[in-house]
Amino acid sequence: MSEGIHFETTEFASTFLDPRREFEPTVERIQVRLDPLTGRSVHLAHFGAIQPQRLDLESYGRAEVKGFCPFCPEHRHRATPRFPADVLPEGRLVAGETLLVPNLFPYDAFSAVAIMTHEHVVPLEGFTGGILEDAFSTGLKFLRVVRSLPGAPAHALMAWNYMPPSGGGLIHPHQQYFVTGHPGNRYTEELRACLMFDQRHGKDYWSELLREEARRGERYVAEVGGSHWLASFAPIGVLGDLVCVFPGVFGLGDFTGKHVASLVEGLNCLFRYFSDAGIHSFNASLFFGQEGRKTFSAQFRIAPRTFLNTRDYASDLNFFQAVLHQPVSVVRPEDLAREVRPYFDVGRRGE
Ligand SMILES: [Zn+2]
Repeated sequence: MSEGIHFETTEFASTFLDPRREFEPTVERIQVRLDPLTGRSVHLAHFGAIQPQRLDLESYGRAEVKGFCPFCPEHRHRATPRFPADVLPEGRLVAGETLLVPNLFPYDAFSAVAIMTHEHVVPLEGFTGGILEDAFSTGLKFLRVVRSLPGAPAHALMAWNYMPPSGGGLIHPHQQYFVTGHPGNRYTEELRACLMFDQRHGKDYWSELLREEARRGERYVAEVGGSHWLASFAPIGVLGDLVCVFPGVFGLGDFTGKHVASLVEGLNCLFRYFSDAGIHSFNASLFFGQEGRKTFSAQFRIAPRTFLNTRDYASDLNFFQAVLHQPVSVVRPEDLAREVRPYFDVGRRGE
């Protein structure tokens, strides 16, 4: 076992007299896992109880549902803002179908939106022909430009809500890019924990985790062009989550076109799995270590999202996440990895 990396699971049993079985005793198994980096706990329970719900994508394109979309090609040049010249002399960035603009409703000092497509409704299988490469490359260019400004904040972050269950306010595909001093409590905590790991063991945590996960094989999915995909031991999503780590690639400056290409190749494999599994929505992020430090490897994280049902559109997040800050997963990461793995094998053989 790798020094300093421990996978800790505690099993619990909950017994009740079951009305479905004439009040015979029923035992439900529950796990609490601790994240090997931060020690944060996650509940795993109700295995298989939540199924991703179908979304009526066709209806999202109908005029009465769609309403006014500022990201559609006929409106985007008039309805979206431009950056001031001291931030981005061109005002906006363009590549292929991607148009990167300031967020009209910014969450931070440097807050951009990359409109990814001309099409308003794009199913997962529609992200082909360079759409993802253009979006990521344009977003990264923005992050680099802003990071080079005098006194710019330290952290660069991409975040992505896809489709309404994820909390995305607009159907039209778009990613958000931030340069910020406050990249969220999770990454702040992980950066700190990785620094401590390095001080204690003299190693980069993520490279070490990959080595250990590859050795165990239970949650390891695949290697794609030097990037490595795995299912998280202690997932943050109700339907689990996957992380793509670029070991030895630390700051934004180290992340090149080659890494974008690897990420996109892996994402296309994952999207094929999502489509077959009926997953139509996700949250994702791409985050980097601090420039000049070799303690936190660049990584992309993605968590599927769903409505609990399409009767009253209950959210898959509840008091656990909102007030207890406690992730709950109904998916075993080991099962998720087993399901996802063949899609990477097939994808990489080009079948
Ligand atoms: Zn649109």
